[in-house]
Amino acid sequence: MIVVDAISKLREAVSGWRQSGLRIGFVPTMGNLHAGHLSLVEAAKQHADRVVVSIFVNPLQFNQAADFSAYPKTLQQDIEQLKATAADLLFTPTEAIMYPEGQGAITRVQVPEITEMLEGEHRPGHFEGVATVVTKLFNQVQPDLAVFGEKDYQQLQMVRQLVRDLDMPIDILSMPTFREPDGLAMSSRNTRLPEEQRLQAAQLYKVLDEAREKLLQGDSIASVEAWARNTLENAGFQVEYISCRRADDLLIATENDPQRRLLAAAWLGDVRLIDNLPVD
Ligand code: AMP
Repeated sequence: MIVVDAISKLREAVSGWRQSGLRIGFVPTMGNLHAGHLSLVEAAKQHADRVVVSIFVNPLQFNQAADFSAYPKTLQQDIEQLKATAADLLFTPTEAIMYPEGQGAITRVQVPEITEMLEGEHRPGHFEGVATVVTKLFNQVQPDLAVFGEKDYQQLQMVRQLVRDLDMPIDILSMPTFREPDGLAMSSRNTRLPEEQRLQAAQLYKVLDEAREKLLQGDSIASVEAWARNTLENAGFQVEYISCRRADDLLIATENDPQRRLLAAAWLGDVRLIDNLPVD
């Protein structure tokens, strides 16, 4: 696996592969890799000849400075893990490479509507930061396909719209959420949970799963959302949202929508967890 931090070196490697007629897959990450990330790499390899992974903790998408500085950075471990996968190139740009003029006055990418609800409502500026860095990374790597996790479902749907709206010739693939044995969605932020809260954290998945069952049994969306919120609050979570949405555009779902998704965000102490499940 080649490791590069310069855009010129990345372009050199990728254009060589492209000239040989190879298909390029791409997995953007913020590092601190776990089995969920690695599943995206393997999926990319199944649909492409060469796989590029990026690790960049993007300051533009953090709406809280403390969250950015506490974000775990484990580059050497990440490199070791990636060496055991199908990744061919790891791109690790620095902040100075990504934002040479600083973050303040650069061009930003804004995807409307889908970014204004749920995470967008609770994390102002977050999706603009994600859309901007994803656009930059797509232009730097120029992949044929990119793989994203359903763990960040709203982000996935935003990226689908971004490539559609801006005519980017990139196929977007998604992979289901990788979970710990107790159901907790794998996340780099889980390492920040103290032991007791780590044990409680799996309740988020369990409540979403039970809520799904209730919806499938015909309970009303409003009653299920209220039940889920109360159950989580009683278990010690501070719930930001728990909501049943249409799976494609994330507008509020009705009982008749054929494809629905339950999405939630909740705090356990000072760690913010998100999770989501398909209902139908
Ligand atoms: P991150 O490093 O958190 O920015 O995530 C990079 C990519 O990995 C995104 O597409 C995430 O949705 C995906 N991802 C994160 N956690 C998981 C997980 N538990 N299972 C599957 N994909 C994940």
